Amino acid sequence: MWALRLRATISAEMIPIITEKLTKSYGHMHAVDHADVRIEPGELFFLLGPSGCGKTTLLRMIAGLLEPTSGKLFFGDRDVTRTPSGQRNCAMVFQNYALWPHMTIRQNVGFGLDAKKVAADEKKKRVDEVMKTVQIDHLADRKPGQLSGGQQQRVALARALVVNPDVLLLDEPLSNLDAKLRTEMRSGIRQVCKTTNTTSVYVTHDQEEALSMADRIAVMDKGRIIQCGPPEEVYDRPVNHFVADFLGSANFVCGVVQESGPDGTTVSTPLGHLRASMNGHKKNDKVTCMIRPERIRLLDGSDQAANMVDGIHCETIFRGGGLRHDFRFGDEVKIQVDETRRRSHRISNPNVRLGFEADDLIVLATAD
Ligand code: ATP
Repeated sequence: MWALRLRATISAEMIPIITEKLTKSYGHMHAVDHADVRIEPGELFFLLGPSGCGKTTLLRMIAGLLEPTSGKLFFGDRDVTRTPSGQRNCAMVFQNYALWPHMTIRQNVGFGLDAKKVAADEKKKRVDEVMKTVQIDHLADRKPGQLSGGQQQRVALARALVVNPDVLLLDEPLSNLDAKLRTEMRSGIRQVCKTTNTTSVYVTHDQEEALSMADRIAVMDKGRIIQCGPPEEVYDRPVNHFVADFLGSANFVCGVVQESGPDGTTVSTPLGHLRASMNGHKKNDKVTCMIRPERIRLLDGSDQAANMVDGIHCETIFRGGGLRHDFRFGDEVKIQVDETRRRSHRISNPNVRLGFEADDLIVLATAD
């Protein structure tokens, strides 16, 4: 872990970023389709989605590297839709670091200040400061080729922060690092963004990265923002099958609504009647019930739950920190259950009763 040693000189002006129906089209294809979003001042905001969903295109429009086909973009009160990139006071961190190989780390970090014609003593102060912040001050005289991937990414972050950007844009900054380092770097980057109060937009296709770092996440599919909210909300209350499936593991069971009212919803499914706390559906609606594997319990003896279903145990996979059990219900339905090691069951009898609460069952409209 790299802790932060931050002083007041590195601190951005806090501004919101607002997109109004921002669109980028290539012929008939909308790479970004009417994106409406308000990113709050100082927020660490994630664009998350599968390859090709439009997240890089949206980020590049915010950076000024791509011109929108239509719509508007504001940094605070400033309409920057057609403002050249260099006049937006935003800085970008790329996946491939994009460092100058022939320059020292100090020269790389100070590069953006030369372009802004910052006086030499002020430049030295800011470069020293930001190198300390991301803990690369001991590497100042080396060249990028003499640094590890994680260290190079910190140089790229320092180079972006040294210009005191109003907006920091991060394009899959950790994807070239190994899994362990990626996890370590997450909290460091989050701390930098939060301590400097920089409004930051971070692109990733890694849902774990987004869930663990973001203030809010916009989940994108086919150029559209499908859902936008804090990590817990998009994970626990996905608005459709796509979001539920993209954000971690999920069990899906098709069904038909029997009744829905203020007390909740009852759905007829191949597992029997299931009860959900949420409402908003109509009788006879075709729906998909979603439940996260860690929300299901193996019931012992007299244990009770709002929903109880009997299944056959198929297999258990060891996953380091926990176990994943697979169960079968008839020929069609399979259910996965995750248990932590401490709370795990040794399954000796294949006939098992599973239980879950009505709050944990999410009823989603079935797309036709
Ligand atoms: P990845 O995670 O793979 O980088 P992404 O979500 O960032 O994907 P984008 O790079 O924003 O996706 O691309 C969105 C869509 O726009 C894709 O279908 C892509 O093929 C298309 N696209 C991007 N640039 C162009 C272009 N210059 N001409 C035509 N289509 C393009």
